[in-house]
Amino acid sequence: MSQIEERNPRRFPSVDEILKTVPALAAVDRFGHQAVVGAVRATLAEARAEKLVLSDSSRIASAAFGRLEIEDRSSLRPVFNLTGTVLHTNLGRALIADVAVDAAVQAMRHAVTLEFDVNGGKRGERDDHMRDLLCELTGAEDATVVNNNAAAVLLVLNTFAKGRDAIVSRGELIEIGGAFRMPEIMSRAGAKLVEVGTTNRTHKKDFAAAIGPKTGLVLKVHTSNYRVEGFTAAVEPSALVALTRKHQVPVVNDLGSGTLIDLKRFGLKHEPTVAEAVAEGADLVTFSGDKLLGGPQAGFIVGRKDLIARLNANPMKRALRVDKIRLSALEATLKLYRDPDRLAQRVPTLRFLARKAVDIRAQAERIAPALAAWLGDRFVVKVIDCSSQIGSGALPLEGMASAGLACGARGSSGSGRALSDLSAALRRLPVPVIGHVADKRLVLDMRCLEDEAGFLSNLKKLDVRSGTDAVA
Ligand SMILES: *Cc1c(COP(=O)(O)O)cnc(C)c1O
Repeated sequence: MSQIEERNPRRFPSVDEILKTVPALAAVDRFGHQAVVGAVRATLAEARAEKLVLSDSSRIASAAFGRLEIEDRSSLRPVFNLTGTVLHTNLGRALIADVAVDAAVQAMRHAVTLEFDVNGGKRGERDDHMRDLLCELTGAEDATVVNNNAAAVLLVLNTFAKGRDAIVSRGELIEIGGAFRMPEIMSRAGAKLVEVGTTNRTHKKDFAAAIGPKTGLVLKVHTSNYRVEGFTAAVEPSALVALTRKHQVPVVNDLGSGTLIDLKRFGLKHEPTVAEAVAEGADLVTFSGDKLLGGPQAGFIVGRKDLIARLNANPMKRALRVDKIRLSALEATLKLYRDPDRLAQRVPTLRFLARKAVDIRAQAERIAPALAAWLGDRFVVKVIDCSSQIGSGALPLEGMASAGLACGARGSSGSGRALSDLSAALRRLPVPVIGHVADKRLVLDMRCLEDEAGFLSNLKKLDVRSGTDAVA
């Protein structure tokens, strides 16, 4: 590089010259001297590698500014989730209720009574903020909170089944995705997996034969993301409890999504609630914070006081605990459940589930003309009926009647390319729009679209032409 400079010193201005230009000064104002010097050098190096001649200092400075702006953009960006999956794990699952967002912001800005009892002036416990609420909402004796439900299951297994047997039905050895596989969690927790029954049928007698002095716990797992249909049999948690009593072995029910209210309220099928699981007699029940509950990521464990005390005494609990930001958001979210009638307005996840197909369709019809206009005559936009799903393993076979916009390429040749170009153009928007492809059309399910005005103004930046021209 330096050789080129020596041979042809006029090809590029010096870094100092470039730093004196207007765009460079603006860049320094925004990103600081060090970052701008770095970006200018990188821009020059790139130009040299490409054997360009860049003699205009301002243009080099502008290029460096652009480079810094791209680097500065958060990689964790807001998107429009029009996939039709309300709790999309890859898109961050539940959106947080406004009061919970406010509570989290307060907690971030201030010192808080995280482990401090203001009344007594003594040390308090992190779990105190949630314990009473969780007990009130689930009917459990005691409760604790950890990082997520995977952590809840890990902590439970490690506490009660380390070096001992954990008995599970073969029909419930689930993989949730993202490397949560029950057998692997078991071995990491130090538990010995004892499988009973068969894939489709497990009976009480199978558990009875497996329980012995080495048993640490019996685990019931909600088969979240699949169903075994046909000739099946499973053992109800209440029957498991009756069976294990005399052995003094705890029954743990991993509910997965774990709703606090009956989903029938929203016209959906009944999903066992946490209170029902507690009432059935499970000694401990675990569930997620950011699935149907509609809060931030967390794992709850509710149940018998003596067992919760043992979980809290496990040093692993310290490694899995949640911070003040999430605790405050969780507390605010749980408080909303004291008023079930207004939940569907206040908790975004439940608001999405409660939306009626006619309303969603009306919204799709309002948006269709604008989308068609922005897409131009290479695509046909149609309002269609479609089916949304809850996601994250809740009621996997239950679709919810919804509506959306289906964008198909006009003419059949090259329609695959056209669709992938369209998907890419939507992802390139300032707020990327994520849909899904079905029947050779890109479908935008409107169920989770609330900011209609924001969506429309975002579309103004849509540039699908270059892509489709390339196809044609
Ligand atoms: C989702 C799920 C988990 C994992 O919960 P996370 O909160 O994602 O860690 C564990 N068990 C079941 C049955 C689930 O559905």
